[in-house]
Amino acid sequence: MELLHSGKVRDLYADGDDLILVASDRVSVYDVILPTPIPDKGRILTQLSVWWFDQLGDLLPNHVISATDVPPEFAGRAIRCRRLQMVPVECVARGYLTGGGLTEYRATGSVSGVSLPAGLDEASRLPEPIFTPSTKAPAGQHDEPISFSAVVETVGAETAERLREITLGVYERGATLAAERGIIIADTKIELGWAPDGTLVLADEVLTPDSSRFWPADSWQPGRPAFSFDKQFVRDWAAGTGWDKRAPGPELPDDMVERTRARYVEIYERLTGKPW
Ligand code: ATP
Ligand code: MG
Repeated sequence: MELLHSGKVRDLYADGDDLILVASDRVSVYDVILPTPIPDKGRILTQLSVWWFDQLGDLLPNHVISATDVPPEFAGRAIRCRRLQMVPVECVARGYLTGGGLTEYRATGSVSGVSLPAGLDEASRLPEPIFTPSTKAPAGQHDEPISFSAVVETVGAETAERLREITLGVYERGATLAAERGIIIADTKIELGWAPDGTLVLADEVLTPDSSRFWPADSWQPGRPAFSFDKQFVRDWAAGTGWDKRAPGPELPDDMVERTRARYVEIYERLTGKPW
C-alpha cells in the first residue's frame, strides 16, 4: 500500500479507493512526538473510536468501512475508511475551561471569539458548551484558535453553521453518555470531511484520550487542575521536566509509560464498559 501521510500519531495508506488509517503507539505533546511509545495506545485509540462511531451513528455518517478488514500486521490498530476531502478546520467543543482555552480567556475574556462571563477559573464549567474552532496547522506548526467568522471565510456560512451544529451535537452526545459512567468530557476535537456528494462525514478519531480531555466526575473541582485520563498527564509531566517544548522531546521513564498506559486502558474500560 502507498503511504500517503505519516502524521504525529497516525499513518494513512491508500488501498484502492479506500484509506487504511493506522494508529501507532506514538505520543505527541505540544506537537512533538516523544521518543518513547506507549504499548497498546494505538489499539486502544482505534477500538475506542470504533465504539464511539457506533454510538454516534444516528447523528451523522462516519468514515468507517470496516474495523476488521485491514492488513493483518495492523489488526486492531487500523480502520478501513472512506477517503474524504478533509475540512481545513479543527472542530473543537468545550464544556469546561482549561488548557489553551483558559489561557485565551484570561488574556481576552473570550475563546475563539466566543465571549464568556467574568470570574471563570481553571476547570470551570461553562454556562453552555461552545464551539471553539482552530486552524489545522501544517506539520511542525501549532494549531491556532480562530473565530467563527474566520471559519465562515474559509468554508462559507452554511458549512460553518453545520460544523458548529455537528461539533456541539457530538460533544453533547458524548458528554451525556460519559456522565452516566462518571466521566466529564471537558472538551473534544473532531475532524470532518466531505464525501464526493458533498455530505459532511465524521472522520479521523473521535472522543479519544488524544482528542479529548476526560476527568473523573467525583473529584472535579473548579479552581484546580483536574485528574486527567488523557494526554494531559503526559503534557504536564513533560512540561515539568523543564523541556522547552521543541523537538526532540524527553524520553518517558518506565513508570510514566506504565501509568499513561493504565490511564488509557481505564478510560477505555469506563466508557465502553468492556474489559480491555
Ligand atoms: P497532520 O500530520 O495532518 O498535521 P496529525 O499529526 O494530527 O496531523 P495524525 O492525526 O497522526 O496527523 O494523522 C491523521 C491524518 O489523517 C490527519 O491529517 C487527518 O486529517 C487525516 N484523516 C483522517 N481521516 C481521514 C479520511 N477519512 N480521509 C482523509 N484524511 C483523513
Ligand atoms: Mg491528528
